[in-house]
Formats: sequence, C-alpha cells, structure tokens
Amino acid sequence: MAANSNQIVVEEVIFLGTGTSGQIPSVSCLSVPRPTCAACVDSVKPNSRNRRRNTSLLVRARVAPKSPRQDVRTHSNGNGTSVNGDAVHTVDPNLSAAAAKSHVRNIVIDVGKSFYEGAIRWFLDYGITDIHAVVLTHEHADAVLRLDDLRDWTMYRDDQPSLPVFLDPPTMAAVSRLFPYMVDETKATGSGLVPKIKFCVFDPTQPFNVLGVEFAPFVVPHGKNCTSLGFRFSNVTYLSDVSDLDEKAYEWIDGSDIFIVDTLKEVSHVSHFGLDEALAASERIRPAPRQVYLTGMCHLMEHHSSNKKLAKLYASGSIGMPVECAYDGLRLDVRDKSPTSLVAAERITASIRQQQLRPTVAAVKQAASKAQAEAASVATAAQPADAGRPIWADAHGRVQAALTAELQSRSAEVSTADLIAMSEKP
Ligand SMILES: [Zn+2]
Ligand SMILES: [Zn+2]
Repeated sequence: MAANSNQIVVEEVIFLGTGTSGQIPSVSCLSVPRPTCAACVDSVKPNSRNRRRNTSLLVRARVAPKSPRQDVRTHSNGNGTSVNGDAVHTVDPNLSAAAAKSHVRNIVIDVGKSFYEGAIRWFLDYGITDIHAVVLTHEHADAVLRLDDLRDWTMYRDDQPSLPVFLDPPTMAAVSRLFPYMVDETKATGSGLVPKIKFCVFDPTQPFNVLGVEFAPFVVPHGKNCTSLGFRFSNVTYLSDVSDLDEKAYEWIDGSDIFIVDTLKEVSHVSHFGLDEALAASERIRPAPRQVYLTGMCHLMEHHSSNKKLAKLYASGSIGMPVECAYDGLRLDVRDKSPTSLVAAERITASIRQQQLRPTVAAVKQAASKAQAEAASVATAAQPADAGRPIWADAHGRVQAALTAELQSRSAEVSTADLIAMSEKP
C-alpha cells in the first residue's frame, strides 16, 4: 500500500444524527391533545433512541506513527516518485496547526439544520474538542444549513484560522447562494465575524483525500432534479440520501464491511429509499457486508419495533446480514477489515495516488522543499506512545478526568466503577 495510506487509520464513526430533514419528534405529533405517534412520544424521554437529528456522521481517524521509511522525502527522481519508488509525501495544505499537532483527525459529514444540537450533545459526551474538516453530501438544508456554526471552530483560534470544507460543484453553487459572505468576506455585514471556510471543491467522479483519509465519492439520484453523494472510506460506505442505485455505484460499495444507508420509512418515497429498497441494496453488495445500519429515518420507523422486525428477518434467513436502525450517538469501531475490504481500499488508494502523481516536476520539488521546512511540526502528529489505543480511550479518559475533578470539588465519594458508569454513553 502507498506510504500515504499507511499513515492514517479510520478507527471509529459516531452518528451525530440519524433522522430525516424534519427531525424526530415532529412538533405536530406532540401538540395534539392525545399524542399517539410511538416514535415521537418516546423521543422526548431522556436518552431515547427515537430522538433523531438530521443525518450527520463524525469520522475519526488516527495518525499512525511514521516509520523512518515513511518520512518526508526530499529527493525526487523528477516524475513524482521518491528514489525508492514511493509517492513523494507532501504537506497537506488543508492541515491546520491544530490538526498537525493532534494524532486524531475529526471529519464531519454534513452540517444540517440540527448540527449544533448534535454537536453540543455528542461532542461533550465523547470528549471531542476539534473538527478538522467537513465533507458535504449535497445541497439540501439538512446537509448544509448550519455551516454558519462552524465559526465556533475557527474564531479566535490561531491554530485553526480556517476550516476546510469539501464539496462538489453543485453544492458549492448552492452554498454560494445561501451564504455569500462565506465565499466573499467583503459581503459580511455587522461585526464581520463569519466562519472562515476554505472551500475545497472536488470532482465527484474521482476519489479525494481529506487530511490523509481517502474518500471515494459516487453520485446517486436523490429525487426530482437532485443528486447526492455516497462516500466510501476505509471499509465503510455511507449513503445518507438516495432514491436509486445503479451498478456503477457498487464498484465502490462492494467490499464494504459496514454499509450505512438511507431508509426514510417502510414504503418507498420519491427522494429516499424505503425499507425494501435499502434491504435490496444491502443484499446486492458482494460479499455481504458484516453489518448494515439504516439512517435518515422518519417517525414512521419506530426504533425498537423496527429493530425487532429486522432481527426476525435476519434470524429467519430472509435477509443475509444483520441490519439495524442506527441512532443518534451510536459509536462504531470500524477498524476490523475483511480481506475484500482491504482490496477495495487499495483501489481507492491507487486511484488517489495516480492523481497525486500528476503535478509537474516543479510543483513536486516545491512541495518537497516546503515539506522539509514543515517536517518538524508534522512529526509531532505521530505519538508512538498512544499507538494502538482506540480514540475513545482518550475521550473516556478526558470525560472521567472531568468527572473526577467535578466530584472532588464537591467532596463526593464515588467508586471508580461509578465514574466509569457515568462516563459511558447512554
Ligand atoms: Zn410522529
Ligand atoms: Zn436531501
């Protein structure tokens, strides 16, 4: 595998939101005299798995310690490869100082209407302090409307003065209409305090690299006059908004260990998969994924009864793999990789590497020179002492430390077991 792909390992994903655009609960379901909607009524209970915000996923990757062979190359043979044949490693221009000094990459897919509410819940629960990049699936409000809240991660931060947002040309056009001041700061009014976004427009037919994590996009229909993007990264396929899938999409989906797929409700819908379509798409994947998670559900998909039904389908052999409704706050370890998944990951890597080899000789030499100058700061990204530790171990450590400090300040007596129980997610 190319040196670049060995440096970053996608370890986990956290669902920041798993609901449709309107979110769950629907106000109209609860404002009647005697509410009867099972999902909406349950959703207002503490820690309900029926409380669903707009679909959004946090992808967390770890920077693996570099071996001497993977260090920044300063000698090029002129065709974009180093003297020993590896791709010349260049410093990512989108890598902020905040990201460079961390051994973790936090990449958020979609920042829709409920992004703030999801972040304030799950970032605090899991001890997540930074967002290093954002990737957008499409132009709808439930995917882009809270872009403005990203200023929380750029304002007053010397180590991250701007945040890279990766999007395709149609989404860029929509964002330009919605938020002209983000694209052109001279259009800002009032205080002028706007999120500093570095828009990175990618070709949706080609894989691209987000701070070392390789994303393969594929365009899918999303109802009338609209398309969205599915993403394959590592051994995961994420498909939050889709109304149809053609064979070409499976070139990227096949080999996924984990398939996360749009399922609005049991019956079909003009712009989203219904349950039958989501299950049919899951059955089509070769080989069968290890696990399928449904996302983007409306209040007609009550969490517990839907999962019971899905478990019965799997137990009876009606479907060939376990399928479950995801829920807000669900955290998945995605490190286990099947051999077929690795083959697919190699293909993404090869495709990206081919693109990276396109720059001119001058550009490669310039990048190598710059890389040499910045090598010291990049080297701090690798923290061998932490190698192999799951990311959430850090998160739990921080949460537990915070809890301990809080409890000590109150002179309370609690056991370690209590602390661990308190720091576990609901
Ligand atoms: Zn309802
Ligand atoms: Zn949409």
